[in-house]
Amino acid sequence: MKRIGVLTSGGDAPGMNAAVRAVVRKAIFHNMEVYGIYRGYAGLIDGDIKELEVGSVGDIIHRGGTMLYSARCEEFKTIEGQLKGIEQLKKHGIEALVVIGGDGSYQGAKKLTEHGFPCIGVPGTIDNDIPGTDFTIGFDTALNTVIDAIDKIRDTATSHERTYVIEVMGRHAGDIALWAGLAGGAETILIPEAKDDMNEVIARLKRGSDRGKKHSIIVVAEGVGSGVEFGKKIQEETKFETRVSVLGHIQRGGSPTAFDRVLASRLGARAVELLLNGKGGRCVGIQSNELVDHDIIEALSRKHSLDHKMYDLSKELSI
Ligand code: ADP
Repeated sequence: MKRIGVLTSGGDAPGMNAAVRAVVRKAIFHNMEVYGIYRGYAGLIDGDIKELEVGSVGDIIHRGGTMLYSARCEEFKTIEGQLKGIEQLKKHGIEALVVIGGDGSYQGAKKLTEHGFPCIGVPGTIDNDIPGTDFTIGFDTALNTVIDAIDKIRDTATSHERTYVIEVMGRHAGDIALWAGLAGGAETILIPEAKDDMNEVIARLKRGSDRGKKHSIIVVAEGVGSGVEFGKKIQEETKFETRVSVLGHIQRGGSPTAFDRVLASRLGARAVELLLNGKGGRCVGIQSNELVDHDIIEALSRKHSLDHKMYDLSKELSI
């Protein structure tokens, strides 16, 4: 392969830039040409495509967001949209595409692969919900942003002897809530993968109070329900002074952690390595600290699963 493309798609994640940089530099190191497709699949359909040089990806490794911009594109979910995309790729002489994004973006890459256009998926999402990898690019940074917020909120919770409900991102996956809850010493963690009984949560808070506990932190993944509603219910049932903090989009931004930069560099480079070896239709990941790749179609037929042992541990440690 002589010429490849790279795009970022779906929700942005810190470390996407480091992945783009790795793709570009690794490819150029091996005498390939690299074209950047701007604004994800929307830009692919529109032909928003430019060649990237070594210098095009300078000074971005430490920046959040994505220099290639990202977009959501309904048209690409149709066969016509996908074929338009392939036409643009062919027009620019691009022979393979590296797609950096979450599960929706992987679906797009899968579709292109099914149409005979080789793609490699690189997991870029803060949600950590992509099958075939233990960690996604951006998860560690988001997690550290949440921990920073929890630590700060804890100062107020302690000083004012309040209960705090902190709503974090995670519509379908509870990884951010679980890891942040465990690392932030939360008393209760509510995640979509476990159906917690609200009466049990309230009973736990009351037990804590009876033991002399003056404040509590409850981390809720957005997929479980509204943090505001949980806060109201807790205050009504316990009469504890309860406050709610919805962290929102601060979780998506910021300079990537060293872990995310290294992960992005390794995975981006591995994607190019696969293409150098003539392999398409794969997605890359890290499992037990080894770089791995899987068939993208097969990987997407599986589900990301939460570490239930860690969830049990969080319960044991917050009795
Ligand atoms: P993420 O990649 O972060 O999960 P989305 O779910 O919004 O974000 O997906 C990003 C984009 O990927 C969508 O806007 C669409 O262009 C493309 N995409 C999502 N699902 C499909 C699909 N089933 N077929 C083709 N393209 C898809």
